[in-house]
Parts: sequence; C-alpha cells; structure tokens
Amino acid sequence: DLNRLSGDIQLIVDGKRLDGRGFDELRPINIKVGVLKRADGSCYLEMGKNKVVAAVYGPREVHPRHLADPVKAVVRYRYSMAPFSVEERKRPGPDRRSIEISKVSREAIEAVVMKELFPRSGIDVFVEVLQADAGTRTACLNAASVALVDAGVPMRGLISSVAVAKVDDILVLDPMKEEDNYGQADIPFAFFIRNDKIESIALLQMDGRVSRDEFKQALEMAKKGAMEIYQMQKEAIKAKYMIESEEVNSDE
Ligand code: ADP
Repeated sequence: DLNRLSGDIQLIVDGKRLDGRGFDELRPINIKVGVLKRADGSCYLEMGKNKVVAAVYGPREVHPRHLADPVKAVVRYRYSMAPFSVEERKRPGPDRRSIEISKVSREAIEAVVMKELFPRSGIDVFVEVLQADAGTRTACLNAASVALVDAGVPMRGLISSVAVAKVDDILVLDPMKEEDNYGQADIPFAFFIRNDKIESIALLQMDGRVSRDEFKQALEMAKKGAMEIYQMQKEAIKAKYMIESEEVNSDE
C-alpha cells in the first residue's frame, strides 16, 4: 500500500523501491530471437512488464523508389503501441509521441547498421509494444538490435538501451511505470556497444531536472545497466544459432 507524500506517491519506502529492486537493478529481461516466420529477422523481448516484438525486413528494394539513396541503405523505424498495451485503450495509429520515438530510435539504430554496404536498398524495422510499463522505447531498441542481427544485417555492434530516473531524490535504473509517472526526472539512454566496450551514446533524452553531478551518476548507472543488457542480447543470439547449428549437424 502506497504512502502519499504531499499529494505524490512515495516511491522509495524504507530504502527500497516499490517492486523491491535495488537502485541499480534492472527489471527481469527475457529475450527470444526469431519468433516471426515472415520477417527476415525478429525478436520478442520482455523488460519487466513491458512486452515488445521487433520485426526486420531487408535489405530490400525501397518503395517508393524515389526514397532510395544511391550510396547507402535507407533505414526506417516504426514504433507503435497496441491499443491494448496500456490501461486506457490507446488510439491506434501514429501520434506525436510515437513519431518522435521512431525518429530518435532510428537515429540510434543508424549508428550501428553498415548502411554503406547496401546502396539503393531499404532496411525496415517495425517495433510493436504489446504491453507497456515505462521504458518501452528502450525495450524496443534492445529488441530491434537483436532482430537486426537475426536478419543478418551487417552491424558495427549492438544497441543496448535503458533509462535512469530520479525518484524521491534518488537515481534508479530502469524505472517502471510508477517511477516514470511520479518521479522527478526520466533519462532514457542507448549505447553503441562493440566487443564488450561502450563506443558511444546513440540516444539520450531527458524530461525533468537533475544536477550536473546527478547526470554524471545517471550516465554511469545506465552504462552498467546497458552492459548487462548487452550480455543478455548476445546470449539470446548465441542460444538461437547454437540450436540451429545442432539441428544442421544432426541432419548430416
Ligand atoms: P517510454 O515507454 O519509453 O518510457 P514514455 O516515458 O513516453 O515512454 O511513457 C512512459 C509510459 O507511459 C509508457 O511505457 C506507457 O506505460 C505509458 N504511456 C505512454 N503513452 C501512453 C498512452 N497514450 N496511453 C496510456 N499510457 C501511455
């Protein structure tokens, strides 16, 4: 039961988060690679109560043709929330929020896709939120980057993404709905990670306010969390391709 604090929800009770997690603890993550038959690559991912699916098509011919780029592939990214993914029915179709999320997520993905290898072609990434509980853009990016690998798209590395929030004056990793809604700040991060090393920040957004020191702390917290996600993404990819190679071997 929630203690009300000056009209707001108290998010840290006796030094604990409402779901019992430590301040720098991720929600449980579950990743399944190759879940859709008709996509070139796909991934189902759960991050806490978030459930998302990513489908990748391409590299393939671009339609309409005039959108094609003669020197590199065009990457498209569509983030969409199912009407049943949130408490109140979400009106289907794109809105300002999903258009913004699609744009910044595409820019993050473009940092790792080797577009120059596929002139005149298109790589389409569709992410669908089936159930939302804050951090859906981060969950979708994690799924999209695994789906791109599953599609065999050449990549410089992976995108691993997680948010940090400030709640009751404390920084917490991977905020869930209550922390996102009633917190003082929300900072989604995505990193370009290659060979177990963070190369750069691929996405950084913020609402609310934090001090300069808090921001530095949040960045460190997010990096640590993203490295954990990166290991899980690699494991999930390995798991799928190990099973496939076993099947191939047993066919011989
Ligand atoms: P993110 O999901 O990346 O954290 P936001 O911070 O914009 O993005 O949203 C936080 C959460 O608020 C979402 O994960 C979802 O649970 C909820 N939410 C977002 N949009 C809607 C909407 N149109 N209707 C109901 N809930 C929503």
